[in-house]
Amino acid sequence: MFRTLNNFIFTDKRVLLRLDIDVPLNENREIEDDYRLLKALPTLKYLEENGTKQIIIIGHVGRPKGKVVDSLKVNPIANKLSKLLNHEILKLDDCINIEIPISSKFVMLENLRFHIEERNNDENFAKKLASLADIFVLESFANSHRDHASITGVQKFLPSCAGLQLTKEIDNLNITNANKPIIALLGAAKIADKINLINKLLKKVDKLLLGGGAIFTFFKATGDDVGKSLVDNEHLNLAKELLANPKIILPDDIVCANEISENAKTVIVSPHEIPHTYIGLDIGKKTIEKYKNILKDAKTIIWNGPMGMFEIDKFAAGTKEIANYIATLDAKSIIGGGDTASAIRHLGLENKFSHVSTGGGAALKLLEGETLAGIKALEENIIKFD
Ligand code: AMP
Repeated sequence: MFRTLNNFIFTDKRVLLRLDIDVPLNENREIEDDYRLLKALPTLKYLEENGTKQIIIIGHVGRPKGKVVDSLKVNPIANKLSKLLNHEILKLDDCINIEIPISSKFVMLENLRFHIEERNNDENFAKKLASLADIFVLESFANSHRDHASITGVQKFLPSCAGLQLTKEIDNLNITNANKPIIALLGAAKIADKINLINKLLKKVDKLLLGGGAIFTFFKATGDDVGKSLVDNEHLNLAKELLANPKIILPDDIVCANEISENAKTVIVSPHEIPHTYIGLDIGKKTIEKYKNILKDAKTIIWNGPMGMFEIDKFAAGTKEIANYIATLDAKSIIGGGDTASAIRHLGLENKFSHVSTGGGAALKLLEGETLAGIKALEENIIKFD
């Protein structure tokens, strides 16, 4: 159990707010995807409407490794957030040893990772950050599994709670009491990356439908020639063991190509008949229909990882068609962040899903049943600051 915004009175308090501000920027330092900033707005508005004296936003961009890197300064993010919020945000040049003018309601501090102490969870650094405010609000789901100063460290010094989006993420990605049948869709580049997730899901779900690059390791494990498709040779035995579980469902046809490009020559074949010089890059039409047919009875759908190499249009049909189909269903639909979440948003379907996570690694860890470092700290914070 941890505290949320409604457990605190914010009137006349200064709040230190950890947000996920590490959004993708293009070469002109324009924000390419503002999903995480949009999802931070309800908490920012809640704090403003509840009389908070000052909201001090902290976060990081990229991996500057403890040095000031001009291209990783948070200015474009402060500007964008200010527009979305329709309120001025004062951006300061550092995150510690600073004077914060009390006249500014919203303040954004410079990239935390310009100080190596952030990632090292240095106690003195955390104490300096904490000294800026009266209450800490953790609203940084995508980083909540990290034991960093701005996630867990500051919680040693300030009464703390979860923001609205973080609370939603935890509620939605906990599938312990989800309605059955539960169907999971899993795409992965490599089995090894998602083996913990596969094992965990197999205990909870009724069926696990596989797509993405990992499927070829399964077919190779049963003796098929998978051509030039992605294969994780170190995990063939593991794949074979997993195949003994009847919950695992594999594709019946595969879109294969002679090269990875929009101009590639493609054929749709059985996974047992992939041409020797071809690469498997998406699930085929028969598989899409088979998966739809299984999904139609689901009460809960959990999806992590695209069905094919969706970044290239020619291999995006599997991911698109499945996404469009799930959007028409009444089932609770949960997208576990990362690539799948960007594919769903790219298709403009995020409002048709029950939950599209803002976190990649953190969402995976939560689905795997791990306790996230930031959440554990919030649980301990209740005892420390009763
Ligand atoms: P993951 O990051 O493990 O969720 O895997 C997603 C990545 O796998 C995306 O970048 C996809 O383009 C890629 N991917 C999906 N299908 C395939 C495939 N058949 N062969 C190679 N890579 C794939």
